[in-house]
Amino acid sequence: MEVGFIGLGHMGSGMAANLLRAGHEVTVYNRNAGKRRPLLALGAREAATVAEACAAEVVITMLADDEALRQVALAAEGIVAALREGGTHISMSTVSVELTGRLAQAHGQARQKLVAAPVFGRPEMAAAAKLFIVAAGAPGALSACQPLFDAMGQRTFQLGSEPAGASLVKLAGNFMIAATIETLGEALALVGKGGIDPMSFVELLTSTLFPAPAYRTYGALIAERKFQPAGFAAPLGHKDVRLLLEASHALHVPMPVASLLNDRFHRLIARGGESLDWSAIGELAAEDAGLRPPLR
Ligand code: NAP
Repeated sequence: MEVGFIGLGHMGSGMAANLLRAGHEVTVYNRNAGKRRPLLALGAREAATVAEACAAEVVITMLADDEALRQVALAAEGIVAALREGGTHISMSTVSVELTGRLAQAHGQARQKLVAAPVFGRPEMAAAAKLFIVAAGAPGALSACQPLFDAMGQRTFQLGSEPAGASLVKLAGNFMIAATIETLGEALALVGKGGIDPMSFVELLTSTLFPAPAYRTYGALIAERKFQPAGFAAPLGHKDVRLLLEASHALHVPMPVASLLNDRFHRLIARGGESLDWSAIGELAAEDAGLRPPLR
């Protein structure tokens, strides 16, 4: 397929590369032009503007947050203005339920289609085409996008025709991962202060009652204190918790653990932790316990 790809960060660079490897014709755009170069070496075409990346029938976005997606999609020369009638925008960033709903409406008014398809999986999984993709949009549009999803992910979950539903599910999933990081951090601080080797504890738990990828990945990162380079930066993790709280307010669903996580991210970032991986909130319990000096 011919496809435009906008947003070549930690995630988007690997995803666009996998589309090229699968034989799709990809035109790439990134605000910072330097990040386009490795994709051009793999055979991508270069777009000098967002509008140029919208020449194909399908355009994919993988951008940081609501503000970035709003600027790229809804600005005067953005995707809604530039994409042809009948064209499809696949929005893969983790963004608010509200913005996804607004985008669906704008694309609908322009006689275009929106498929929301946020992903689970860190940059290593993106590079290895192992993402889990959560897709929602009109049934015809979803099936037309499937060859692209197959090139980027190991499995696609279809969630129905309402794009905003995919954003809600993605935010709920990230909330569970952040809560896992927090509980791992607290338990590791406890056993560590009690003289137990943290990695042995992680191995014990992940080989028995908690064999899930989230416990394996984040247990090891916290036990080994590997918070740099950030695969998923703390400000993006904080953004997801804030967006989850917005969704919980809109639906009147009390989520006290999410409020606690929001404070954890405030604390990490207020102390200069914005360049660290989001799993660094799992280190705060060790600091509270007097086990270690604050992270830099
Ligand atoms: P990233 O490395 O920070 O990349 C962000 C991308 O957004 C870059 O291409 C950046 O362009 C672009 N961008 C930011 N602000 C912009 C603006 N105002 N206008 C135009 N472009 C803008 O982030 P990432 O880790 O790839 O994450 C991308 C999305 O995937 C986020 O929504 C994140 O929550 C989600 N996600 C991430 C992970 C993960 O583990 N990293 C996992 C699942 C989902 P520049 O290069 O010019 O700054």
